Amino acid sequence: MTERILILGGTAEARTLANNLLDRGKFHVITSLAGRTDNPRLPGGEIRIGGFGGIEGLADYLKGEAVSLVIDATHPFAARISTHATEAAKAAGANIIRLERPAWKAEAGDRWHHVPSVEEAVHLIPDGASTLVTIGRQQLGAFLDRDDIKVVARAIEGPKITVPESWTVILARPPFPLAEEIALFEKYEIDVLVTKNAGGTETRDKLLAARALEKPVIMIDRLPKPDVETYATMEALLSRLDTL
Ligand code: NAP
Repeated sequence: MTERILILGGTAEARTLANNLLDRGKFHVITSLAGRTDNPRLPGGEIRIGGFGGIEGLADYLKGEAVSLVIDATHPFAARISTHATEAAKAAGANIIRLERPAWKAEAGDRWHHVPSVEEAVHLIPDGASTLVTIGRQQLGAFLDRDDIKVVARAIEGPKITVPESWTVILARPPFPLAEEIALFEKYEIDVLVTKNAGGTETRDKLLAARALEKPVIMIDRLPKPDVETYATMEALLSRLDTL
């Protein structure tokens, strides 16, 4: 019987994974998106969009669609859906595995300050600092409290909040190469970078730019995700799936 796989997506990796699995021709692949992005880039295969309605809703979905394997390929900062998926898979008798890019690690020359949340990051920004913020658009509201700083916020899509006139909003899609990141720091005279430890290569060069220019980084660390079989690379995950 064809294995029915649900990929929980919202990342570039999830899209690549879906296409890779479809190429193998032996899986029915459904990709699920939360619906946060207005114009998401979609993989091939079946697509469904929107929340499931908590653990119970997801468990019902898995049973109804006869899903035997859930692949959690959500963003490292999407903590709730990973917990829901783990519980729902257990309730529905499906297997679950995760694809999760390793976190970035500070290297010699880096000046990182680790914080556990966006709110803590906002608190730590030096007075009056010109601040490059690359945390996506969802939590930008937390920076409204700091009217002493100059915010340069970069995101793929525009913020849903009304931003102060003093802010600069840059809408752009990764990858962002190092030379362009250095030029961005210089153009806006950035004093400090606030970012999430997303990992991966597509948005990593801002950290190299901060290192090269000796600028501090306020690094929002990941929250732990549930303990399931986890693969750090696409190759490792695909090798595992080829055994099915
Ligand atoms: P979250 O806090 O973990 O999830 C909140 C709720 O959104 C979940 O309870 C679930 O609703 C729904 N949801 C999340 N991912 C879903 C998916 N793939 N398919 C269907 N429903 C989903 O997640 P978030 O931080 O809001 O992120 C939402 C999506 O954006 C994720 O899929 C993630 O991969 C992507 N994303 C997040 C970030 C980030 O920094 N957080 C960055 C880039 C991309 P129900 O309880 O109703 O099922």
